[in-house]
Amino acid sequence: MTRIIPHFVGGSLLTPKDGRFGDVFDPSEGTVQARVPLASEGEVRRVIDDAEAAQPAWAATNPQKRARVLLRFLDLVQKNMTELATLLSSEHGKTFDDAKGDIQRGLEVIEFAAGAPHLLKGEYSTEAGTGIDVYSMRQPLGVVAAITPFNFPAMIPLWKAGPAIAAGNAFVLKPSERDPSVPVRLAELFLEAGLPAGIFNVVHGDKEAVDTLLTDPRIQAVGFVGSTPIAEYIYSTATAHGKRAQCFGGAKNHMIVMPDADLDQVADALIGSGYGSAGERCMAISVAVPVGDETAEALAAKLTERVGQLRVGPSLAEDVDYGPLVARSAVERVEDYIQQGIDAGATLLADGRGLAVAGHEEGFYLGPTLFDHVTTDMSIYREEIFGPVLVIARAADYEEALAMASDHEFGNGVAIFTRDGDAARDFTARVNVGMVGVNVPIPVPIAYFTFGGWKRSGFGDLNQHGADAFRFYTKTKTVTSRWPAHGVRDGASFVIPTMH
Ligand code: NAD
Repeated sequence: MTRIIPHFVGGSLLTPKDGRFGDVFDPSEGTVQARVPLASEGEVRRVIDDAEAAQPAWAATNPQKRARVLLRFLDLVQKNMTELATLLSSEHGKTFDDAKGDIQRGLEVIEFAAGAPHLLKGEYSTEAGTGIDVYSMRQPLGVVAAITPFNFPAMIPLWKAGPAIAAGNAFVLKPSERDPSVPVRLAELFLEAGLPAGIFNVVHGDKEAVDTLLTDPRIQAVGFVGSTPIAEYIYSTATAHGKRAQCFGGAKNHMIVMPDADLDQVADALIGSGYGSAGERCMAISVAVPVGDETAEALAAKLTERVGQLRVGPSLAEDVDYGPLVARSAVERVEDYIQQGIDAGATLLADGRGLAVAGHEEGFYLGPTLFDHVTTDMSIYREEIFGPVLVIARAADYEEALAMASDHEFGNGVAIFTRDGDAARDFTARVNVGMVGVNVPIPVPIAYFTFGGWKRSGFGDLNQHGADAFRFYTKTKTVTSRWPAHGVRDGASFVIPTMH
């Protein structure tokens, strides 16, 4: 019988007996390995009931005790790393080492969030007026929800949960239905670390579950990561229902290659960031922008050679550079883009279609694909492909390259490779993109800085992790206090109070 992946609600695993279910694949083999329940509106409301009941006691637990739970959780995840990374790799299709990286980047935000006692401190002003002190405090919102994508099934739930829980909220996670097992294991480890039942809940589902979270008045804030059309929908629906929302969407990250760059370093960086995880990363580089035809010719030759050496195979095999895509529909979508690129007149330097991996013929594989002479009007330039496809879009000079990255609809990440500090400094100041790398291809900021794209890569005011996360998951209360001596009277005042 096919295994059913349970929800995790109120501190217990919950396997529904009936209702709707979805398939969870092993992308390396193309087979169904489990089924995931798709929660009904009523089931989601019961999860919120549990979270709401548990939250006040957690909020009343002092921040240092809450932080200690996170520190124990860190330790437990490290101890279970091999099991978690294997599970993640088997449902997602990314390699074992990449799966460990997914978990590790999540843990870095848990480490950061364990600084909650410091991060939640308010401000204090004494003698703001005669005998008057003013101070602020950060209080949790209540019950908050997160809706997360398939491509980082550990990292992104932990980016949301760490600060939310440390700040004293109860958390309801609706993970991707494509790879839902790791979030459930994380919930079990949170419980083992001492997190009270009902504070970290996992409810699986699709649009019905998401819409319930977006409209239930008890959910105070919604964090989302996924594709741009859904990010926009979640943002507008959640905010229309009076909730805070931060929603991060798709990307088309450019790498500007200046003529003075070391092209071997550039080629290595492009191969890793373009094809790692089969290109299924929001910070993948999908557009190389060499400046000048001489740079472009040399770069195209180096990339073509390296692309030919890439090894594609089952995610848990030791000698592969990247594994399968997450779903057959994803392979079909990317193949369709490759055809659109050919039809539009781009030069196909490497064609990954039709790749058969011996012994794993039904797996969702796609070989590395490389296009040259891509122009800004082509769909393979304008749209997010989210697969192992790198396009070279040549620029005549630096200003044209800068304008390409700045004018693109998406503004998640960008990189410049150069040995010229002046050009790099000008680029970081002027480019209209949220996260910038200088000789760094995937500039995901460290946990204590914030992560967030611009333009149609991000909706909402505050970024993920860093100081913004604690702002997002708390509300500020400001207290003005005075202790006049007993019996002293000022008389009634009918004018607006001013400080004197
Ligand atoms: P997706 O938008 O298909 O799904 C994301 C989540 O939304 C899932 O939990 C899914 O169940 C839910 N969902 C899907 N359709 C819905 C609908 N109609 N109504 C309500 N909920 C719905 O994204 P995905 O394919 O899981 O992830 C890949 C996308 O995520 C890419 O576009 C990638 O760039 C983006 N991403 C962005 C970032 C970032 O930080 N900007 C990080 C990782 C991934």
